[in-house]
Amino acid sequence: MKQSQLFTKTVKELPKDETSFNAQALIRAGFIDKVGAGIYSYLPLGLKVLDKISNIIREEMVAIGGQEILMPALTPKENWTITDRWANFDALFKLNGSDKKEYALGATHEEIVTPLAKKFVFSYRELPLKIFQIQTKFRNEKRAKAGLIRGREFLMKDLYSFHIDQADLDIYYEEVKEAYFKIFERLGLGSQTYLTYASGGAFSKYSHEFQTLTVAGEDHIYVCRKCRVAINQEIINDLKACPVCNNNDLVEEKAIEVGNIFQLGTRFSDPYKLKYRDETGQEKPVIMASYGIGPSRVLATVVELYHDDRGIIWPESIAPFKVHLLSLNENETANEIYLELIKQGIEVLYDDRDLSAGEKFADADLIGCPYRLVISKKTRQADSGELKKRSEEKSELIKITDLTAKLK
Ligand code: ATP
Ligand code: MG
Repeated sequence: MKQSQLFTKTVKELPKDETSFNAQALIRAGFIDKVGAGIYSYLPLGLKVLDKISNIIREEMVAIGGQEILMPALTPKENWTITDRWANFDALFKLNGSDKKEYALGATHEEIVTPLAKKFVFSYRELPLKIFQIQTKFRNEKRAKAGLIRGREFLMKDLYSFHIDQADLDIYYEEVKEAYFKIFERLGLGSQTYLTYASGGAFSKYSHEFQTLTVAGEDHIYVCRKCRVAINQEIINDLKACPVCNNNDLVEEKAIEVGNIFQLGTRFSDPYKLKYRDETGQEKPVIMASYGIGPSRVLATVVELYHDDRGIIWPESIAPFKVHLLSLNENETANEIYLELIKQGIEVLYDDRDLSAGEKFADADLIGCPYRLVISKKTRQADSGELKKRSEEKSELIKITDLTAKLK
């Protein structure tokens, strides 16, 4: 994409009420715009990153048998009264319809997915069933001060699984855990993300969170460096040592919950009377679990982890573009390189604007594409481009004929 065509620009004036680093960096670099507390628009660069994150998650959900659907954001009150959560889910946004009925903006979708499953699940033959969506959620969060980490409108991948019994769920639960490790690895968060034991509710001793270590985190966890697991502080009273190796030399860290997996048992299948018939024709309740990841929170987490004082440093897997091509008054040569990179399938943002070198360099650092390729009079005379990784200080001259091979 040509930067001259991009309707957004890097921004110098930040909204006064924006205190979180991730939102400040993303607003400044032109990825998002702030509409209100916990409410943001995704601009072309931001949407590209968000879509890449979602696609990585989607691929790994499909790989473990997930079937993608899209449920409504507008959900009838009855669905929530059946499970007693109309009154008890305190962050629910509620509204009135013109039909005099009440509605909630979906904060999570057990109340929609369970009656959906009931329309298709009758016997053990239909189980297990795994359905997921990547959808906008609404929560009336009290602490909407952490930018995209805690939106009042945010994106969530929610997977729900339905099983004949606990043993079958246990097997799948482990598969999801593995898929989550793969996802966070691919998102560039592998080395900082810990499987974390958290309180479990009525159906299992623990639930599991995926917590990414960063000082920007709102959660406090205790890390066992040996086992690479952690415990959420909220349950430390019950659990004083590592649940894997029993070591009690745990280190307190701040972290962001990027995902979680939760056994629901019959919490939702009971009120919705979601049952199946086993081989002998006997009726039994379906056993459920739910598994969340917040792509928009992941985006913010990556920004919190990967930046310097000049801007964002995207991991290649989710960067808006792989290469930022900068023409310093050499548009003829740069145009040719731009077209060649596109032909080779290399994603490139091309700064063809009539601006000073200093402004172009500053914007490239703010935006944070993994590679910066500069075409100047000096490099053209050497039939080369100057290539630099955003994460490194040194650059190298690469022959134009070798560029695409180098960048592929
Ligand atoms: P938290 O304790 O941080 O509020 P949660 O326990 O409410 O999170 P879930 O309801 O399990 O989270 O939601 C699943 C995932 O959705 C979370 O792991 C997180 O990645 C994301 N998420 C939850 N709330 C928000 C939010 N307000 N803004 C952005 N992402 C969110
Ligand atoms: Mg919450």
